[in-house]
Amino acid sequence: MTLIGTAILLLLLLQTAVLYAWQDYKDYHVYELTPRDASEQSLLRQLAREQPQWDFLGPRRRQNDSTVRVMVPHEEVASLVSLSDSQGLEHRLLIDDLAPLVQAQRAENLRQKQRLQLPHIDVLAAFYTHAEINAYLDSLPERYPRRAQVKQFGWSYERRPLKVLTISNGDGRRDKPVILIDGTVHAREWISPSMALYIIQQLLEHFEENQELLQDYDWVIVPVVNADGYEHTHSESRYWRKTRKPTTDPECVGTDINRNFGYEWGHDEGSSSLPCEDIYRGERPFDQPESQVLRDILLTYGQRLTWYLSLHSYGNYFLLPWGYTNSLPNNYEDMMAVADAGAMAIVHATNGIYSYGSTYYVLYPTSGDTADYALGVANATVAMTMELPAGGFLGFDPWVSHIEGIVSESWVGVRAMAVEVIRRYGIHR
Ligand SMILES: [Zn+2]
Repeated sequence: MTLIGTAILLLLLLQTAVLYAWQDYKDYHVYELTPRDASEQSLLRQLAREQPQWDFLGPRRRQNDSTVRVMVPHEEVASLVSLSDSQGLEHRLLIDDLAPLVQAQRAENLRQKQRLQLPHIDVLAAFYTHAEINAYLDSLPERYPRRAQVKQFGWSYERRPLKVLTISNGDGRRDKPVILIDGTVHAREWISPSMALYIIQQLLEHFEENQELLQDYDWVIVPVVNADGYEHTHSESRYWRKTRKPTTDPECVGTDINRNFGYEWGHDEGSSSLPCEDIYRGERPFDQPESQVLRDILLTYGQRLTWYLSLHSYGNYFLLPWGYTNSLPNNYEDMMAVADAGAMAIVHATNGIYSYGSTYYVLYPTSGDTADYALGVANATVAMTMELPAGGFLGFDPWVSHIEGIVSESWVGVRAMAVEVIRRYGIHR
């Protein structure tokens, strides 16, 4: 065999090995459940609590008629069907074997990346691992010495370095107000780091057309907060959400960072004390290293923090504080005006529809989330969670070919909101 032949064979073997290390989701079923009234809605919440094997996907909205997707392993299918039947809950089978779909997406992503020259990243061409994103961030100060600065703020539980990129216009002023953006608080929301990277590329590579955004503001960007969970979705379990730190329950790993923040932490309406649940809040506020790091970043920039934006998926929402209560913050109208600017820009550009308002009203109660902390403690003027559009089979898993459509549309919204923030607050706060 020629040298090239051997190399190709090795590459194929390696790719096969990587594919088999992957949780294959063989015979996992996906159902759509449609509660028709408040009692069926509460039945769903009860099921989410009592059936840790069932993975409820995506936003559970307040409206009673909204459908919920739930992913279950093969051995749970019979009990899901009989429970739904006995309670009269409407259910519909969407996918009867998730494995080939997950494999196809993973193969597509690996194929795409073989063509790339890392650390150069083409945001639109693939989804990247935490290590690849870090290598890209580290390459930026060399390419943009006056405008890009990288700092490590700490480590994840599994000792991955958590990095922060600051982008400025290079004029040397150090006291500008800050727009702070984070991504990948939830591991499986892969469009979130892509969006963070796209914003970075707009501000650095397309500086000329965006320099008004950097005239009086610095942008601080954390593409991956939940590094361990995100890595886990690349190497093993595509639909993992939480961190990877063990809990008090030996059966269940991980805490929801977005319920672990220390402002109005621990309400049962909006978070869970049960380690097996997806919205497990931890034993104490900030008992996750990744939450501590994001808290430290927020507090570091707190005195300059004009806009905090947390990128999640999915559902097309701009979610404002508060999540923990039905009362509204003092500057709610101002924050709504910012969200309004984003929603209007997007609908004009693409017809994309966003809903916006307080998390508690628009979506559901959340307690201990990052936006509440940013507004309640870290001194942000405007705090917001953006739920990017859905893609793929389960909403969290757009195909590579759909990255461009989602991130370019979302940038229209983020850019318009930044313009509105700058117009409203200028350089004074
Ligand atoms: Zn999320």
